[in-house]
Amino acid sequence: MCGVVGIYSKDKDIAKELYYSLYSIQHRGQESCGLAVVDGDNIKYKKDMGLVGDVFKEDELSNLSGNMGIGHVRYSTAGGSTLANCQPLVGSCRKRKLAIAHNGNLVNANYLKDMLEEDGYMFQANSDTEVILYILARYYKGDIVESLKITMDYIKGAYSLVVMGEDSLVGVRDPHGFRPLILGKKGDEYIFASESCAIDILGGEVIRDVEPGEIIVVKDGEVKSYHYSENYKPLMRSCIFEHIYFARNDATIDNVNVYNFRVKCGEILAQDEDISADIVVPVPDSGWAGAIGYSNASGLKISEGLVKNRYVGRTFIKPTQEQREIGVKIKLNPLSTIVKGKSVVLVDDSVVRGTTSKKIVQSLKEAGASEIHLRITSPPVEYSCYYGIDTPNRSNLIASNNSVEEMREYIGCDSLKFLSIEGMIDATENKATFCKACFDGDYPVKKIDKEEQLSC
Ligand code: SF4
Repeated sequence: MCGVVGIYSKDKDIAKELYYSLYSIQHRGQESCGLAVVDGDNIKYKKDMGLVGDVFKEDELSNLSGNMGIGHVRYSTAGGSTLANCQPLVGSCRKRKLAIAHNGNLVNANYLKDMLEEDGYMFQANSDTEVILYILARYYKGDIVESLKITMDYIKGAYSLVVMGEDSLVGVRDPHGFRPLILGKKGDEYIFASESCAIDILGGEVIRDVEPGEIIVVKDGEVKSYHYSENYKPLMRSCIFEHIYFARNDATIDNVNVYNFRVKCGEILAQDEDISADIVVPVPDSGWAGAIGYSNASGLKISEGLVKNRYVGRTFIKPTQEQREIGVKIKLNPLSTIVKGKSVVLVDDSVVRGTTSKKIVQSLKEAGASEIHLRITSPPVEYSCYYGIDTPNRSNLIASNNSVEEMREYIGCDSLKFLSIEGMIDATENKATFCKACFDGDYPVKKIDKEEQLSC
């Protein structure tokens, strides 16, 4: 997971706007961040490990003034959590400058890296974004669209990109549209962003999602749209996990409003329940909307039985298990006056490794809850994701090797129920076509091992 933004203005300095919009997508990556802006023939940039508010001081943004820029918040899925992997990546080639920021994960990055190294390319970092930049630079002879089309023939997997040349800003989404990318407008400015909140915060309006396989170029104040291939066929497989967990409640991605989807998932899950409980307790924050839906449909009162420490980042997107575990303890504390002696329906959005759920259930029991019925507003995560979510090893996924009853036993709750895949899709009201491979193993793009041939 990562977040990207890009802003174009004809003549206005956009550094502050870039900073605010990056701030608003901080939830998509908390390890590092960066901004790059065009200043005449130059691209200036700053990037570092840490949160947006720590890396950039608002009163120092004048050092990054320019009328066009891109930004990135990073959570590492490919490549380590190091300064060398911070984005945007900035390079120059044949006296032309390029900058790129990427959300997603290529499935053939190692293969392409080997190919480029054979040709003499030296890599400074080990993220797949550097692979994209080098292929792009290799074919960039002044026409950014043509070089992007060739690059898209090489790279496979998930990528939502913002790319900046000296005179143009480009938004690109892979042919399956795994990761979101939105186009917005404010006056003469055009804005690309991973989520609409980055456009809202500037007082702009959302124009539309960038389509899967689309290249949108903003240049000289005009917007032009291209498809990556003459033979383009829509293959949309928008990541359903964005709606389940990653995106903010106020996002609308590929016509599906995230908040409404989450509420609907909770409502569907509550149907046909035969437990008797006293209260519904959400796991904050992403469990709230599902719990509201569950409460609506079941008639059970919703109560804040877990208090969240607002100053801790998202535990699932910490890079190590140890960081995740201590993160849960610091982040959530039960409110014993609410849960003591109560039979609790605990609603969370997903179970990935099971360790977080186990700790939350334990703490609620210690706080005096008499029963805990865990309800998950998504299906069991049984398969790894190759498209930018950090679940690389199936053995880390509790649902891949355990039945629901075995999971219940491990987590220590009194009952456990998941939303079905059909229920999840019903909650989208079929407004888009989704990737749900982590639930059913039906991968839209096969992971390409080194031994296998590239199709281009
Ligand atoms: S495998 Fe799961 S997490 Fe990965 S893109 Fe598909 S739906 Fe999203």
